[in-house]
Amino acid sequence: MHSPLFEQIYAECSKLEQYLEEARQFCDLGKVADYIPELTHANCSMIGLSLLDTNNKNIQLGEYSIPFTLQSISKVLTLILALMDHGEDVVFEYVGMEPTGDVYNSMLKLELVPPGKPFNPLINAGAIVITSLIKGDTPALKYERISNFVKELCGRTNISYNEKVYASEKLTADRNRSLAYFLKDVGVLKGNVDEHLDVYFKQCAIEVTCHDLSRIGMLLANQGVDPITKKEIFPARYAQIASTFMVTCGMYNESGEFAIQVGFPAKSGVSGGIIGFVPHQFGIGVIGPALNDKGNSIGGLHLLKQISKQFKLSIF
Ligand code: GLU
Repeated sequence: MHSPLFEQIYAECSKLEQYLEEARQFCDLGKVADYIPELTHANCSMIGLSLLDTNNKNIQLGEYSIPFTLQSISKVLTLILALMDHGEDVVFEYVGMEPTGDVYNSMLKLELVPPGKPFNPLINAGAIVITSLIKGDTPALKYERISNFVKELCGRTNISYNEKVYASEKLTADRNRSLAYFLKDVGVLKGNVDEHLDVYFKQCAIEVTCHDLSRIGMLLANQGVDPITKKEIFPARYAQIASTFMVTCGMYNESGEFAIQVGFPAKSGVSGGIIGFVPHQFGIGVIGPALNDKGNSIGGLHLLKQISKQFKLSIF
């Protein structure tokens, strides 16, 4: 499918370069995530962008080829896989559909609102439950299925998780561990907590590039179908569910502001990655490890705001 919007951006690519360099100036005002110690080694002033349309036409700028870990962006992918494994009726028995207004790793509403079902699949509590639902007789098989799905989404087989980031999170994940044990206590999380967490830490540590994110975004934009091979990688209904969560809860407690200032489905992670897309047009991948106080890439946000404003990308 031809994307006139993408062609226009392509023709005015020098503007994107200008926005990228402007966005780089903002990086000094942010801070890399340090609660996972290994993430502090990221280069704070790095910023990269990739756009990929449904004709496989690509725009890549800045440090677009540097690998980084998926972190919370993985939550969108495991949500789709869990939906493919069980269907929406079962999945929504375990997680809700509402934004929380609390920070992503909050425990508050789990206790306040019985029966302790996580409000949505993009907060940590919800994502850990979603990971527990992934089919597979052992943790290794569950992870393998997640990894194979990510490979298919990225269109390449040489994808793996970063051992150091995984080990670093595993050593320091007291908050996630406490969330998971609480969920087990109230009966929302079944099975072995440490095994589920191990799979969750691995999925968060899977390494991708901006190009990979733009390809996954492009698949969401194209409702789950690979436009080149015409293969359905995931059903359109699950693309719709994932996209809706990205709009309502994808950018932590800045999702409302992001919807107003940028205006398309997106999900960020604490490594500084952002995945986004313009429906039926193209996918977007951004990296900028310096984060603002809400946990979103400070340079990445600036860049997306500028691009959206210039090319009128808001879907609203
Ligand atoms: N692995 C991270 C955690 O669970 C992901 C958080 C994020 O990217 O928002 O804390």
